[in-house]
Amino acid sequence: MTTMTAAEAGLLPCHACHLLHRPSQVAHGLVCVRCSATLHLRKPDSITRVWAFLIAAYILYVPANVLPVMETGSLFGSQTDTIMSGVVYLWTSGSWPLAVIVFVASILVPGAKLIALTVLLISVQRSSTWRPHDRGRLYRIVELVGRWSMLDIYVAAILTALVQFKSLATIRAGPGAIAFGAVVVLTMFAAEAFDPRLIWDPVRRHHAAHTD
Ligand SMILES: [Zn+2]
Repeated sequence: MTTMTAAEAGLLPCHACHLLHRPSQVAHGLVCVRCSATLHLRKPDSITRVWAFLIAAYILYVPANVLPVMETGSLFGSQTDTIMSGVVYLWTSGSWPLAVIVFVASILVPGAKLIALTVLLISVQRSSTWRPHDRGRLYRIVELVGRWSMLDIYVAAILTALVQFKSLATIRAGPGAIAFGAVVVLTMFAAEAFDPRLIWDPVRRHHAAHTD
């Protein structure tokens, strides 16, 4: 079976409404005849934009984990908790299932997503032909996780749990919570800016070079 990409067939899909165009020549500045979106074969500046989002996310990952995500106060004094100290508190106070959920959702998953996107980005930047199927699957997992997880919810779970356990009078989000939310959003933007077709472009070139 022979296959060809839209680009090889001279077709240019609209990213906004998916209408196919067959321009006489692929030039810059073409717009969709139906919805007027700019037409391009690949997401423009995908690699640069993903790097920008990823670097910002890495930087904010530090305060998200080091700064307090909540400040709690009662008659007996005030206390601040980071994500990790919240997890430790939950664990030592006996609610270990909740501790595991918060650890996985707030520390493990965001970190794993950052690493996965970095691996994908570096491999694409180096025009790697290494295991494209697995890299494609990895991208789909990252996208899927981003779609159904609103990880801040688990931070809210720590808050509620701590309020219940300690019967605290006042509670408010610390600066770490803002950094954490920013990491989640930036990682989603990075996944969105990544163009998975870039995984297959070098594979296709490699094939073409070896079948001629
Ligand atoms: Zn369109």
